[in-house]
Amino acid sequence: MPVSSASNVSTLESAFSKFKEPAITHRRFKHADLQPLIQKHSGAFEITKLGESVEGRSISSLDWGDGKTKVMLWSQMHGNESTATMALFDLFNFLEGNGDEFDDLRTLLKSQLDLKFIPMINPDGAEQFKRRNAIDIDLNRDAISQISPEAIILKGARDDFEPEFGFNLHDQQTYYNASGTPKQATISVLAPAYNYDTDVNAVRTRAMQTIVGMNEILQEVVPGHVGKYDDAFEPRAFGDNITKWGTSTILIESGGYPNDPDKQYIRQLNFMIILNALEQIATKSYEQYTIEEYFAIPDNDLQLVDLLLNEVQVPVNGKYFPVDLGIRRRDITAGETYYMSASVDDLGDLQVYFGLEEFDASGLNYAEGKVYASEFESVSMLDEAKAIELLKQGYLAVKVKNGAKGDLHNLPILVLKSTETFSSGWRTGEGTNFFLEKDGVRKYAVVNGYLIDLEHPKDQEFKQRIY
Ligand SMILES: [Zn+2]
Repeated sequence: MPVSSASNVSTLESAFSKFKEPAITHRRFKHADLQPLIQKHSGAFEITKLGESVEGRSISSLDWGDGKTKVMLWSQMHGNESTATMALFDLFNFLEGNGDEFDDLRTLLKSQLDLKFIPMINPDGAEQFKRRNAIDIDLNRDAISQISPEAIILKGARDDFEPEFGFNLHDQQTYYNASGTPKQATISVLAPAYNYDTDVNAVRTRAMQTIVGMNEILQEVVPGHVGKYDDAFEPRAFGDNITKWGTSTILIESGGYPNDPDKQYIRQLNFMIILNALEQIATKSYEQYTIEEYFAIPDNDLQLVDLLLNEVQVPVNGKYFPVDLGIRRRDITAGETYYMSASVDDLGDLQVYFGLEEFDASGLNYAEGKVYASEFESVSMLDEAKAIELLKQGYLAVKVKNGAKGDLHNLPILVLKSTETFSSGWRTGEGTNFFLEKDGVRKYAVVNGYLIDLEHPKDQEFKQRIY
């Protein structure tokens, strides 16, 4: 082991803080943002243009290292799954560095490994921050047919390089949890199966062992926040097939972490576990781990909602029924940023769900709200206190004269420009804008899925748009 070992959390943390790529500050960057950053590394890395996407954007590989063990890492085959791409650019800075306490580690990696990085396999999807490519194909179901040029590029790179190890880097919904716990699966892992029987051969074993080592790092810094994917075989997916073609493949899925909407901490975790894995591969230290330890990692589950309201009394035909409401607020991309759009995901007996925020609403009645009659000049005429005042009076929405549908704001009230009404309800799929009342007094408002205590509003950020 080198003096600065990547099996040491504080080494990994200080490496990240020193080498984090400062030009990437949020997760909605585009292909054009990356090109100067790739060129920046043309001295230390061998850069090869592998081909072009459907819309003609370049896809390049960056190669580094003089060793025998080949490792290929590819990211963002789903255009809106960019967390690991950020970490790869941090890693490039780290590998290119020299003259510091990490020199031993770099020398080890350089002498043992032959690394090929392919960041952002789906630049056309990234351009719109959407999952699929420009022909609306899910690249991760195109490993065999290779209808997409991006899939041909990835398959070609694998066949030319024949890596011993592969890293398949994705993001997952923030609603995944470590099974049976309310903790978000911040990182989920998988050593994909290569057949329907989900057999474990030597190739798959190496991936499992390396994942166990990565999980040790994660359990130190985000205990309980790791899930393991189901290993059902998907015959069209890259991870499964690349394992089948003889590469020990490690899937990393970046999920959610509290107060990290732009995934900058999860970016750091990716950097840390990838660097750790590279050291394990360079030293073969993964051989100390067993597949039993891999199978002991908790399964991934999909049981989280943003807001779980327990036993809200909802009115039907003059009678009230107590239902748990599970509300999810999904982020919708708007340029380089986003707003939230909330709806009811499920209701009834939701005891198997966990809320990132949970609230006991027993004894509180669902009640509708109104639109304030007179128009405001613009959103700047309102502030949080004024909005809360209007909520207390029973208004869930205001109208504005200036501004446009789609403009963003941070008020705890709905703002209307292109419409006179807003969606409201408690049934599945309905927009979550309502009050919770007791004895005819409005105690709480739910505005676009945000719970607001009208007497004691807490500090929270509202990511809203004008309707
Ligand atoms: Zn994905």
